[in-house]
Amino acid sequence: MSILVVGSVAFDTVTTPFGVGREVVGGSATHFSMSASFWAPVRLVAVVGDDFTEAHRRPLAERGVDLHGLVTARGRTFRWVGAYDYDLNNPRTLDTQLNVFASFKPEIPETWRDTPLLFLANIDPDLQSEVLDQVGGARLIAADTMNYWIDSKPDALKALLRRVRLLLINDGEIRQLTGQPNLPRAAAIVRSWGPSTIVIKRGEHGVLVFDGAEAFALPAYPLEDVLDPTGAGDAFAGGFLGYLAARGLDGALDVRRAAVVGSVMASYQVEAFSFDRVARLTWPEIRDRYQKFIHLTHVEPLP
Ligand code: AMP
Repeated sequence: MSILVVGSVAFDTVTTPFGVGREVVGGSATHFSMSASFWAPVRLVAVVGDDFTEAHRRPLAERGVDLHGLVTARGRTFRWVGAYDYDLNNPRTLDTQLNVFASFKPEIPETWRDTPLLFLANIDPDLQSEVLDQVGGARLIAADTMNYWIDSKPDALKALLRRVRLLLINDGEIRQLTGQPNLPRAAAIVRSWGPSTIVIKRGEHGVLVFDGAEAFALPAYPLEDVLDPTGAGDAFAGGFLGYLAARGLDGALDVRRAAVVGSVMASYQVEAFSFDRVARLTWPEIRDRYQKFIHLTHVEPLP
């Protein structure tokens, strides 16, 4: 089952305590697509500027991501500049240049409008809604966002959430969005606005899933070498939704396995700058880390 993703395709300049990535290919839709491409066919909708070359597209094309919805406009590609301190969980945004995204009007290709799974990756919530207006046939609608949009467009974001089944968001962002510091309470507030499944990403502390009456918690894979956390959330979403798409959407969502797959993909994402590690992943590596998660989280009942 295919996934349609709309989000940012970007050039990122990222500083971490371990190095600098200058103008590397990034963006929420990029990292999502790379990760999801291991699990399901991916259709990407975004805009880039004329500085985004064939060579920049190649890694996505080589993973089989369908780029017919990646429009090239005159001007500069979206740029994000961020820095991480030793606490790698929260980047400081130093600069956001919307560039060609400022005037982008997404047009979903006619033949893509009935894609069963739609992921509205982190981008302007007004653009997310415009996409939703065009995609009548989606059976599962999932969204992500970030502090930049919670600050600048809270009403547009809340209007969008009324129409979304599954929200992926990080812990700081859901606290900011709801004004509620307690995560289960914050999830309940967002669920009262629309989405029935809330996935709270907590960086190196793992993930919390609230799905109907069920809650599920998973640690992050304990990695010793984290080079750059950028895109971890998107790679998680790619694995999580990619797995759901691969399994089909009949019956209850298998959010537990999906969360493990998401965590596996995110754990590889942070091992290198940009998507360099994920792009060369192999299936044995993916399976190996899934097994390690089973071991990591397994516990026997009390004797
Ligand atoms: P994350 O998975 O949260 O680490 O997402 C990282 C990606 O988000 C980076 O590659 C950035 O290009 C992208 N990004 C940063 N700020 C924004 C924004 N305001 N809107 C859309 N994408 C953004």
